[in-house]
Amino acid sequence: MTLRRKTLLVTGITLISLIVLLYISSYIILMGSYSDLEAQNAKRNVERALNAFQVQIDNFNTVALGYANWDDSYQFVTDVNQLYIDSNFIDLTFSDNQLNLVVFLNNDLQIIYEKAFDLQTNQEIPFPESFRQQLLSNPSLVTHTDVRSIISGIILLPEGYLMVSSQPVVHSDGTGPINGVMIWGRFLDDTQIQDLADATALTINVYRFDDDFLPEDFQAAKTVLNGDETMFVQPLDGNTVAGYTLINDIYSNPALLLRIELPREIYAQGQTTIFYFLIALLVISAVFMLVTVISLEKIVLARVGKLSATVTHVRTSGDLHTPILMTGNDELANLADGMRSMLGALAQSQTTLQQAHDDLEKRVEQRTIELSQANSLLREEVAERKQAQEKLSQARDQALEALRFRTQVLANVSHDARTPLSTIMLRTELLQLQRYGTITDGQHKILELILLNARQLLNFVNNLLTEAQLSSDKIQAVYTEFSPAALLEEVSGSMIPLAEKKGLVLKTEISADMPEVINSDSHRIQQILANLLDNAIKFTTQGTITVSIYQKNKTHWALEVADTGIGIPTGVQQHIFEAFWQVDGSVTREANRGVGLGLSIVKQLTSLLEGELSLKSEPGQGSTFTVVLPFSRGAGR
Ligand code: ADP
Repeated sequence: MTLRRKTLLVTGITLISLIVLLYISSYIILMGSYSDLEAQNAKRNVERALNAFQVQIDNFNTVALGYANWDDSYQFVTDVNQLYIDSNFIDLTFSDNQLNLVVFLNNDLQIIYEKAFDLQTNQEIPFPESFRQQLLSNPSLVTHTDVRSIISGIILLPEGYLMVSSQPVVHSDGTGPINGVMIWGRFLDDTQIQDLADATALTINVYRFDDDFLPEDFQAAKTVLNGDETMFVQPLDGNTVAGYTLINDIYSNPALLLRIELPREIYAQGQTTIFYFLIALLVISAVFMLVTVISLEKIVLARVGKLSATVTHVRTSGDLHTPILMTGNDELANLADGMRSMLGALAQSQTTLQQAHDDLEKRVEQRTIELSQANSLLREEVAERKQAQEKLSQARDQALEALRFRTQVLANVSHDARTPLSTIMLRTELLQLQRYGTITDGQHKILELILLNARQLLNFVNNLLTEAQLSSDKIQAVYTEFSPAALLEEVSGSMIPLAEKKGLVLKTEISADMPEVINSDSHRIQQILANLLDNAIKFTTQGTITVSIYQKNKTHWALEVADTGIGIPTGVQQHIFEAFWQVDGSVTREANRGVGLGLSIVKQLTSLLEGELSLKSEPGQGSTFTVVLPFSRGAGR
């Protein structure tokens, strides 16, 4: 919805609400006042009617007074002469005075004359019994204490409602003593009421208070007037308003309900006034709205529209230099100023942004070139790497081939070396045993030396072969059942001559709880023990070398070689198991005739047999190597 429409809507709704509220409030206030005025007017007219009614009674009293204060009447009460009646209460007297009833009573309250007359038919009619009874039963109507007293008012009878005037009969000059009572009565029929209406120029209706069939409006009035109210006003319809009052009888009991009707001129006047007020309100509002809308259009809407159009133009064209045309010295002009400076700042930042963008593009271009150069370099490098890798792979293949070749050569060499070595050793042993003739002690010693060196050479060749096999993963454990005691005996037996030659004692111990037979690779265990014993003898100058076999736990047994030799410094203990590694030192060099393969092979063979190798050693105190092995393959894992 546009601002213009919203403004129109808001102004329209506000004005319509204002008109409605003003109309309702003025209607309530004005019509309230007019209703009050109407009610007051109605009450005034009710009073007028009452006054007119009182005038009728007063007139009736006045005429009656002429007869009551009269010597002839006085005389009549005394002697009841017919002449008085015949000359004074002829039919004409009744019709002239609109009289319906005349009664004379003496001081003993005995009726001495009574006459009833029908004014319609102009004939005497029977005296109403009901009135007679009332006269006789109710003395208040006939009791006069004063010569001037007049009792007048309304009496309700079954025949109708009667206007009565009861006066004492006194002398013509108004003096007493009172001689009886004269009562006049006039039925208030429609003619009488019409007279009253004519006299007041009002529409008058009268109903008996005790009427069982009162019209609805009279019933409402009866209810109100039965309380404290003396008058009651209510509209009968849109054109007529009615005022009500109650007329009591002479005994002060409610007797008649009197209603006057009036045209609702005041009310109509009120409505006309409100109608004109509404017209005026509408015209003023229309003018006001027109002025407001035109002013708003000129001061705000048109200018806001102009600003909006400018903003739309900037948005669609993207032209930040669009001029913003706005004059004046108000908030809109300030807004236009703000927009101008905002557009300026935007244009500035756009330029900066464009520059940054151009800059960035240049840098991206530069980086792309660099990247492509780096890329080609990388590609070259990758190619080189690939080449190198290929070369490396070739080298590895060659190395593997060389290794295979070396292993093969070593295997051949060791085989070729071991066969003659075995022959040499066998023949030497036979020579020693003097199978080829008697030998001297000197010859025996020489043969012993030959055997020693041959054994060491065999050990060396064996080690070389094992190392070659281990490094090319060509070695596998061969499990058989064998006696550990026999193995110990065999290996240490072959080493005893070497130990003795150095003046060392070689002891063997096997614990009693060791089983007779165990399942392992006896050949490899022999190799382990031979290497450890070889080292122990090599690096011990004096003392004892002890080889023990014992049960470590339920699943493992231990092979331990302890010497009292030079020991191994703590710092190098971790290196001695590496292949071709030897402790640097004069003592070792002197004692050592090996190449640093023995312990490396021991370690690798131990793990091949699922065992563990440990060392305890202190320089000068000797060394103890312990190999812990399972009783059978897979045990203890
Ligand atoms: P080698 O062939 O030199 O004996 P090993 O691998 O058997 O090679 O031993 C490595 C080195 O460990 C030896 O050179 C020696 O210095 C040291 N070594 C080995 N056993 C002992 C030992 N029982 N007592 C002292 N040093 C030892």
